[in-house]
Order: sequence, then C-alpha cells, then structure tokens
Amino acid sequence: MSEGAAKKEEKRRKFQAIRGTRDLLPPETALWNRVEQTAHEVFGTFGFGEIRVPIFEPTELFARSIGLDTDVVSKEMYTFEDHDFGELDRLRSTITYRNPDIENPHSVSLYRDQLNDFVRAFGEGISSNQIPRTPENLRALETLQHFAGQIDSLAKDWTGGVLIAKVRFDGRVVDARENLRRIQFGDVLSLRPEATASVCRAYIEHGMQSLPQPVKLYYMGPMFRRERPQKGRYRQFYQIGAEVLGGSDAPAIDAEVIEMVMTFFDRLELHGVQLDINSIGDRNCRPKYVELLRAELLKVKDKLGADSQRRIETNPLRVLDSKLESEQGIIATLPRIADHLCEECAVHYAAVKHQLEMRGVIYRENWRLVRGLDYYMRTTFEITAQGLGSQNAVCGGGRYDGLVELLGGPPTKGIGFAIGEDRLILSLQESGKAPAQQGRDVYIAWMGERAHATAIRAAKDLRKGGFSVELPPVEQKFGKALGQADKLGAKYALILGDNEVSEGLWTLKTLADGSQAKFTEPDLLEHLRKQRALSS
Ligand code: AMP
Repeated sequence: MSEGAAKKEEKRRKFQAIRGTRDLLPPETALWNRVEQTAHEVFGTFGFGEIRVPIFEPTELFARSIGLDTDVVSKEMYTFEDHDFGELDRLRSTITYRNPDIENPHSVSLYRDQLNDFVRAFGEGISSNQIPRTPENLRALETLQHFAGQIDSLAKDWTGGVLIAKVRFDGRVVDARENLRRIQFGDVLSLRPEATASVCRAYIEHGMQSLPQPVKLYYMGPMFRRERPQKGRYRQFYQIGAEVLGGSDAPAIDAEVIEMVMTFFDRLELHGVQLDINSIGDRNCRPKYVELLRAELLKVKDKLGADSQRRIETNPLRVLDSKLESEQGIIATLPRIADHLCEECAVHYAAVKHQLEMRGVIYRENWRLVRGLDYYMRTTFEITAQGLGSQNAVCGGGRYDGLVELLGGPPTKGIGFAIGEDRLILSLQESGKAPAQQGRDVYIAWMGERAHATAIRAAKDLRKGGFSVELPPVEQKFGKALGQADKLGAKYALILGDNEVSEGLWTLKTLADGSQAKFTEPDLLEHLRKQRALSS
C-alpha cells in the first residue's frame, strides 16, 4: 500500500470500544440508575455511608492484599509505570536491546554516547528525586557508570557482533542489561481490579479507627480485570460493594451485611436469588484442613484434570470450585471443612446461621464455596441469580479480619461483599425489568417568532414543575411536529402558533386519544399537575 493510501485508510479507521468494554446507552442506563439509586436508599437505611476511592492505586496495594498467587494479580491487572521520562525510557530500550556493530567505529561511538547520555540523565533524575531512589535504581546507576567506564575494554571482548555487557567491579561480574531492564522511572500503578483493598487503605489513611466502630461503607463504580470476555464477564465491569470495618467480629455483623444485600435484591425484585454460605476457617484451622485436603487430592491425582492437578500444589481449596463433570464424583468424597473447623470458628459459624434465621434470611450451606482472593476467612457467601448462564454469581463476599493489619493498619476485623452490577442488570433484563424508552411529557409544537419566545418560556416553567419537555430547535409544520411528538412517545403536544399567543389560550393535545383543549398559561400547569397526580 502506498503511503498516501495508508494515510487514507488510517483516516477511515472506525474506532470501537476496546474488547471487554462497552457503552451503556439509554434506555438501559435508566435501569442502571434505578439499581444504583436503590442501593443508595437501602444501604442508607442500614447506616452505611458512601465512599469513593480512586480508579488507580499502587500495584503493591493489590498484590499484598489480594495475593500474588491469584489470577487477578498475576495476570489480570492493567498495570503501568507513571512517569515523565518517556524519552529516557526509549533511550533505555535502545541501549538495552540494540547491539552496536563492532566493525563500525561510528556505531561504537554512537552507542558510547547514548550510554553516557543515559547515565547522566538517569543520575540527575535520581539526585533531583524525580526518579524513585529504590535500591534497584541505585544499583543500576552504579553498574551503568562502571559499564560506561569499561566500554572500550569490553569492546575487545565482543564476539560475533554481540556486546557482552558483563561489567566487572568490586570483584563481581554484573549484567548491565539486566540492570537496565529493572530500572523504574516512576511508581508502578494498576487500575483497580476490586475496591476492598482501597477501602482498607482509606480506613487506615484517614484514621477511621478513631470513629465510632464499626465503620460501615459502601461504594460503586468500575473495576478492571483482563479476563476472557464472554456474556456476563467484561474487562471493565461495575461493582456495588460494602465493607464493615472495626473491632468486632460479632456474628450479627456478618448476618446483617448478608441481610442488607438480600434486602437490596428483594427491593429490585431480582428473580431466582440463591444465597450460599460457608465458613472457611481461620489461620488456626484452615492450614491444617488445606494440608489434609492436599493429601487426599494427591491420592486421586490421576483422576483429576490438568487445572486441578496444578491446584493441588498452588491452592487445593480451589479444586472444590471445579465445574468439570468428570471431577464431581471425586470432589463429593473429599473431607469437608465444616468437620475441621476449630472451636472458635465452629461457634462463630453456628452463630452466623442462627442470626440469619432470626432475620428470616434463607440460605443454603455449601461446603464447596471458597473464595478466589487470599484475604478471606471464616464466613464466605455467594449469591446467584436467574438468567445468567455459567456466569451466574451476582455477589461474592466474606470476612477478612487480617487485611487492614496486612496493609499496615491497626488490628481490625472486616467483612464485605461485591455485587457484579453488570450481571445484576442482565438478570433484571432477562426477567423483563428493562425500562421502556424514556418518553417525554410534553412536546411543544411552535410556529413563528413570537410563538418561539413563548415556547421557550413555557418549556422553562414546565421543566421547573418537573415535566420532561421537548422543545424543537427549529420551526416545524404542525403535522410534522405532531408526528415527531408521537415518535418520541410524548404524552401531550402543546400547540403554540400566532393565534394561541395573541389569545393567551394554549392548545393541549392528548396524544393517546387525540383530544384537544384550550388553557390559559396558569391553568395549563395546574391541569398537567392534576393529571400527573391522577396517573401516579
Ligand atoms: P469478586 O470481586 O471476584 O469476588 O467478584 C464479585 C462479583 O463481581 C462476582 O460475583 C461477579 O458478579 C462480579 N464480577 C467479577 N468479575 C467480573 C467480570 N470480569 N465481569 C463482570 N462481573 C464480574
């Protein structure tokens, strides 16, 4: 393709939402708003306050809380380095990956100059604190200074045109390229894959432990995970969640949090809601159970699929999650955690169940319910709903007592949940809860300059009265205007022409039955108010 043609092609390129992300459009957004409004209302009645946390945080916050071995942290986060050193970063790539041609003196001296430029700018960045003074960066600076000093003697060692970037100093041999690769020009940040870690960070940062305990917070907003997109699974998805943080792990707290989600789903009339609960023990009893499980799994290893075989080593609890048909018979014979809880965990679990019963919350015990993230302990729960196929979990939650401490805060108990809002909406839509196209109350059909001025005033007053009004920007013949009003689903057309304006009597047409009546300006508003009261 010629350059010109390539440019044309580029111009014609259609932009599309990135895979795994999507646009939410009206009228669907009205349902999203209703869901979120209901969350504000229901959570408010349980004494929860809204928290809004940033979309990105240091990667380390998620790595430490969610766990390095989880899929979310090891492969699903959108991570980037936040810095102003784009030029220097490019120079780093050049000297890391390009080999100078040793037969060509220009190539060698160019490489030497680039290396020296890099070392100087990198050193200045560190001394002015614009580049983080991490041990790795300081080590890289020192190595590269030696590398630059020794480059001519190293050049003699070059073989087959490949620069051997092994630098000798202090009696050691160091790989300069490895050091170059490890340089960090700025903070490493990630788009949040969930919000619990951020809420805990905020709890610590704002000294919330000195507020009346427990602190009850909820949030809503987008999360980001680089998962394989499918129905109900996106790379940008939305969660509505809540956390209770404080000094107590009273079972009534667990039960009330669960009661709150169930009340929320009930208010939304979500269909086929099923609550599963389990206790996964604590630091005291879980490790022993995990070892027992691992030992039992090793005995049947040959009968398991590749994923489960791997999990025997990395995270045996996750084998219980398996949906593979061929493994179900084996899993049914495995030891159950309920039989291996320590005294405290068993008592806590029994009390949570009792508390749920006192609240009339219907649950099912599911000993195979484990959560994917590392920080959970004791109470775990999951809620599924109708119409979602294989991705039918709309809410996951549980207790995470050690998390705040792990993030550098005071010893704190915690429990929370996250609802997948996309799935919640899908399920509501499947059961016919999709709102109709948003109609208008009044379409103003005006003709003539004088009528336009009146129409603008009428629109202002009607909107002030809470009516939705469509005011066409240009004059239209009445017939066309009425057709337009019909298409938009307007209830009334307000007809304003020269006659109406001079008489001070406005014509209101009810579109459902075609009837017409004349009103003075104040009477019109009164009439519409009355009609609205009658229909609500
Ligand atoms: P988790 O934070 O993994 O415990 O997930 C809590 C809830 O968020 C799940 O039950 C899902 O409803 C929802 N969820 C998690 N990941 C996704 C995703 N990639 N797309 C849509 N919803 C998701």
